[in-house]
Amino acid sequence: MERAELLRLDRAHVWHPCTQEKDHELLPPIPIARGEGVWLIDVDGKRYLDGVSSWWVNLFGHNHPRLNRALIEQAGKVSHHIFAGFTHEPAVELAANLCAKAPGNLSKVFFADNGSSAIEAALKMSFQYWQQCGQPHKSRFLSLREAYHGETLGALSVGGCELYRDVYRPILLEGFQAQGPDCFRCPYGLRRDDCAAECFASLEALAEAHHQEIAAIIVEPLIQAAAGMRIYPPIYLKKLRQLCDRLHIHYIADEIAVGFGRTGKMFANEHAGVAPDLLCLSKGITGGYLPLSVVLTTEEIYQAFYDDFPTLKAFLHSHSYTGNALACALAVEVQKIFTEEGILAQLPAKMAQFDAAAARFTALDHVGEFRRCGMVAAIEMVKRKEGRIGYPWQERRGYQVYQQALLRGALLRPLGNVIYFMPPLTISTVELDLLLDIAYDALRDATSP
Ligand SMILES: *Cc1c(COP(=O)(O)O)cnc(C)c1O
Repeated sequence: MERAELLRLDRAHVWHPCTQEKDHELLPPIPIARGEGVWLIDVDGKRYLDGVSSWWVNLFGHNHPRLNRALIEQAGKVSHHIFAGFTHEPAVELAANLCAKAPGNLSKVFFADNGSSAIEAALKMSFQYWQQCGQPHKSRFLSLREAYHGETLGALSVGGCELYRDVYRPILLEGFQAQGPDCFRCPYGLRRDDCAAECFASLEALAEAHHQEIAAIIVEPLIQAAAGMRIYPPIYLKKLRQLCDRLHIHYIADEIAVGFGRTGKMFANEHAGVAPDLLCLSKGITGGYLPLSVVLTTEEIYQAFYDDFPTLKAFLHSHSYTGNALACALAVEVQKIFTEEGILAQLPAKMAQFDAAAARFTALDHVGEFRRCGMVAAIEMVKRKEGRIGYPWQERRGYQVYQQALLRGALLRPLGNVIYFMPPLTISTVELDLLLDIAYDALRDATSP
């Protein structure tokens, strides 16, 4: 299809995600014809370096030979079948593999089909656990004010980003929300490198006041991603684990964005040496090929549901595509690639490359901070450095960076005033240099008055 015809039909019939469609009057969507490593290539052959892993899902690049082969091989056997009363090798192999690699003694895997649905399953599991353990008053969730856990109503209820949530407030679950970490504008005037997560006090106070009503605390470990790649120190998670143990509250870790190597380790909780009671994973799990998500949990939680059928203790939750075989086969291959190609061992050199670029960015007039956790780096744009005054959101500086970067051949999709990098883990050092150069130029032009 010609570009013009494709865009005409898109305009006529397609409603894009997280988009003000009117923006397409000035900047129509880019029709992609194929992918190649870190590159997306449009119908006219223009190439875009995928600096955000296509919304944080891609791990090893597009059109990956091993993943392509795994997909085709599985399609030649069976693509999908009912997962209640049936099972298959890719799911079993994946479940065993994830349990072996996950922190702590997470030993059971529940399958779902996208990030939000994993959050819903984890919330329901935690709630039902307490119902079945004689503590039915533990029925609410405690989350952080800038959190993001997905768009379905349960997930949105424990989210905090007002931009995505405010309009739906009347139809959300009631819960508790604590002030989360904000290291760029730390209210204690401390630095994330050597603080003791003093800001944990906010969460702790709420939990202590209401623990008899609280089933679980849910957080995004180390990086509050959608809030603008807010990076906070592992000690926060250590304190959280201790608090949850002390007050008998589940710790739900949403590693949907940060799992699978993004923080430099397979799972973010490893940095703190702690394990959650429920671990939600998705996004990178299939290398960015197909939707799949899982909730890992402990034998203890699993056992609270394990009984004779008439007790009605089962977790009666399902999705049509639960345990999709194509997605599981990809996820198994992803784990093999991690091991056989030594992916994690190659990351420190690239992290150092980010760090080497930091000074160049922070020298710019409108850069308030350059921060990094593993293979995720973020730049906080400010109107004035003094006092860390941000640009008014109406100026859409981030959107200008997006446009500037596209012209120069890179996909960066800033979050408000935060430009971030979350490239495929396999990005080469040459490609990473190019990405940083494009970002520098785009940022400079979008912030020159
Ligand atoms: C993306 C994301 C989700 C939601 O996943 P979807 O697949 O988009 O539903 C939940 N939590 C975090 C931390 C995420 O980044």
